[in-house]
Amino acid sequence: MTIRLFLRSAFWIGVYFAVAMAPLLAMLIGPIPPGRGFWREFSVGIGFAGLSMMGLQFFLTGRFKNITAPYGIDVVYHFHRAISLIAFFFIFLHAVIIPAATPETLVLLHPASAPWWMAAGAAGLLAFAVVITTSLYRIQLGLHYERWRVIHGYVSVAAVALAMTHVIGVGYYAQGPAGRGLWIALTIAWVLALVNVRVIKPWMMFRRPYVIDKIEREHGNSWSLTLLPEGHKGMQFNPGQFAWLTIGKSPFSIREHPFSFSSSAMERDSIRMTIKELGDFTARIGETVPGTRAYLDGPYGSFTIDRHAAVGYVFIAGGVGVTPVMSILRTMADRHDARPVLLIFGSKTWEDVTFREELEEIKARLNLRVVHVLEQPPAGWRGEQGWVTAELLARHLPENRMEQDYFICGPEPMQKAVRGALDRLGLPMDHVQSESFNFV
Ligand SMILES: Cc1cc2nc3c(=O)[nH]c(=O)nc-3n(C[C@H](O)[C@H](O)[C@H](O)COP(=O)(O)OP(=O)(O)OC[C@H]3O[C@@H](n4cnc5c(N)ncnc54)[C@H](O)[C@@H]3O)c2cc1C
Repeated sequence: MTIRLFLRSAFWIGVYFAVAMAPLLAMLIGPIPPGRGFWREFSVGIGFAGLSMMGLQFFLTGRFKNITAPYGIDVVYHFHRAISLIAFFFIFLHAVIIPAATPETLVLLHPASAPWWMAAGAAGLLAFAVVITTSLYRIQLGLHYERWRVIHGYVSVAAVALAMTHVIGVGYYAQGPAGRGLWIALTIAWVLALVNVRVIKPWMMFRRPYVIDKIEREHGNSWSLTLLPEGHKGMQFNPGQFAWLTIGKSPFSIREHPFSFSSSAMERDSIRMTIKELGDFTARIGETVPGTRAYLDGPYGSFTIDRHAAVGYVFIAGGVGVTPVMSILRTMADRHDARPVLLIFGSKTWEDVTFREELEEIKARLNLRVVHVLEQPPAGWRGEQGWVTAELLARHLPENRMEQDYFICGPEPMQKAVRGALDRLGLPMDHVQSESFNFV
């Protein structure tokens, strides 16, 4: 990471904690309601911090390039997931401590006599619980990704709105000028973050459409789509990055899917993405008719050699995880980059090896060595077979392996195993980057 990126990353972490903790500051400088004990004040404080962190989630998931660039959007999404558990824990503690510390407030929870602001608080807590449970157990609950996304979006907004209603109704610390000003400012910021992701961003995409020019079959049940910008200059990306793709629908619809670019970043007039048939959207990708309109939201991601200068690179790809690597190789060839590159590429069968012909051809333009690892090799196969293990890596890594940068992209279990293997070989883990195709 460069110094500039490091400073930017430290800046945004500082901003995050300052905003998350701002309501506690407003408590300290605002008028203190009389006759309240420590536990009640403590509970209000953690409730405020929890709500502020929940509101900040709209920024974490708002795909602000300035915020995500220093870390990579996948790291930001992981942080979003982890921090939401902490925020929910704070809010839950708030709801538990107050009645425990001050039993006289229990009457406010009685459904028959609860004031509107207590009902809002209880409904908000329930809504947060729904958001957390459906996110943690989406697959076990049998929730389809797109349905989950709709529920997640609407229920999160409702939860924060209900919690704010509770804060305003209770009125502690939200009535003085400091408290009122702060909560108004936070609410405006959250609404603006939402408007950005739901209105401004789709509007900008709407004004920069693409058209599907070609759709070509690839090995490994995959299809390469070529997209041409319509009436604009297209998108500039770093090799290895990705974008959210919407096909045949308005960019205001939430039916978008993330895919890595597989084309060279040096190609300015077209963009290619290579998509493996997997679920309901990708299984029908081969039926896309040339001429269909498409929209892209991107580029995003930190899985790129342009952020990691090294004397050489080792790529370890599994299946369709080769797509960002292909973009990097094509870009290096177009840039006449002579640094040595090793690709260790795991596939199920020889027939499944996506881009296998091009990987041979591109060697003429690159200092590239490719090691294919087949799970089910054909009869007479003399190459590597099975899984990518520490022993296999040790056989093929270059002598100056400590000076190389490593990029892993493939199924989750493979990524984990390869990271462990590289660690066992004593390689510096800050030289290892990985891309997950499954961060949501
Ligand atoms: C950064 C990144 C880069 C990717 N690059 C590629 C690539 O180059 N080529 C490729 O074939 N695949 C890529 N993927 C994976 C691809 O996004 C999913 O395979 C695809 O969205 C599955 O959609 P589906 O409806 O066909 O499958 P489903 O069966 O509906 O979903 C399978 C799983 O994919 C995930 N998923 C589904 N829809 C979405 C969505 N809209 N957004 C995010 N995740 C979703 C969910 O975890 C779901 O459980 C990438 C994913 C990420 C996160």
